[in-house]
Amino acid sequence: MTDPRDPAPPRRLSILGATGSIGTSTLDLVQRHPERWTVVAVTANGNATALARTARAVGAELAVVADPAAYADLKAALAGSGIEAAAGPSAVIEAAARSTDIVVSAIVGAAGLAPSLAALAATRIVALANKETLVCAGNLFMREAARREVTVLPVDSEHNAIFQALETRNMAAVAEIILTASGGPFRTTPLERMAALRPEDALKHPNWSMGRKVTIDSATLMNKGLELIEAHHLFGVGLDRLGVLVHPQSVIHGLVRYSDGSLLAELGSPDMRTPIGYCLDWPVRRPTPVAPLDLAALGQLTFEKPDRLRFPCLALAEAALAEGRGQPCVLNAANEIAVENYLAGRIGYTDIAVTVEMTLDRAIATGAVADPGSLEEATRLDDLARRIAAEVVTTRIR
Ligand code: NDP
Repeated sequence: MTDPRDPAPPRRLSILGATGSIGTSTLDLVQRHPERWTVVAVTANGNATALARTARAVGAELAVVADPAAYADLKAALAGSGIEAAAGPSAVIEAAARSTDIVVSAIVGAAGLAPSLAALAATRIVALANKETLVCAGNLFMREAARREVTVLPVDSEHNAIFQALETRNMAAVAEIILTASGGPFRTTPLERMAALRPEDALKHPNWSMGRKVTIDSATLMNKGLELIEAHHLFGVGLDRLGVLVHPQSVIHGLVRYSDGSLLAELGSPDMRTPIGYCLDWPVRRPTPVAPLDLAALGQLTFEKPDRLRFPCLALAEAALAEGRGQPCVLNAANEIAVENYLAGRIGYTDIAVTVEMTLDRAIATGAVADPGSLEEATRLDDLARRIAAEVVTTRIR
């Protein structure tokens, strides 16, 4: 029996950040059912070869690299395919604004903000993986989405879980929204060893396979902090109704506690194809290739409180959320600069939190930390924070 809510295929889809971890998981799902999708645009930063391969595999109309230096390679790799090629940040924005039914926004970092905003102009659904969009300019993005009547579906597994547990739209009865956190690879590392933790150790996430930036964010728990800010914008709740629960097995992705004491949770294997598939097919559910969860084989699930002393980035993000205004945008930019420098071996693991904290202090002291009301304001604040963070980093270089 067909579900009357099932959108008629083929649906027009664009994937921003198509060569990344979320992008390739999305493409895996799409390629299993080519009859359901017309792929409009795929984008990447500089990985022209992988992008061209992807564009050819799905018969995309357009492929765009953000880095102009990668254009020649992209053009050559697409020769004879009939697929349009373009380059530069503005071309990514134009690709995002092509008419579609759904856009998967999976660029990493604040670079995803302008394309995510542009997507709102010409689509009906944004499946949002790029949490930085909401951290940098959540009020602006959600306001624009509402004004244009675009549905924002969360790809992030925790928010996707919560979205499912909230489907009855009974927000008034919600006592608490709880994001689970695996605790990352350093959950039990002795505190005195934290300063010396190397990127190759931080990149070994115990449960999830993800891009490098989000993996480091998971090791510092900044990821959970960014997700609290994301949840605030997606679900319209303040810090008083948001919680974090460390759950090392990553089987429960998110929970909603209702005022009557009921706790609703979504459980699943730690595979992003579940939440991505949910978004692609929403409002109906379809099978995915994800292995079903075998609870008996798992035996037990465990839970702990987060340790904010061990993970100061979580506390910094909570404080930025509580303060509001442009502080989350500054926090995000400082974190991006710190993570980049940590991955390059220039600063230590504990310098990430120090850089974020010092950048926030200095940015606030400039008096220029207002809530961004436009893309231009968000970009200006992001630039300011990056400049300050880069200065801070120079004082921390080993
Ligand atoms: P990856 O690093 O794996 O991929 C990032 C993608 O963005 C790539 O396609 C990359 O292109 C592109 N990109 C990078 N920089 C730019 C830029 N300046 N302009 C345009 N495109 C750019 O990241 P993930 O897939 O892991 O994460 C994507 C987003 O999803 C992040 O916001 C992350 O927090 C979020 N997320 C990820 C999860 C995961 O499991 N991976 C889970 C939940 C959320 P290129 O290949 O050319 O560099």
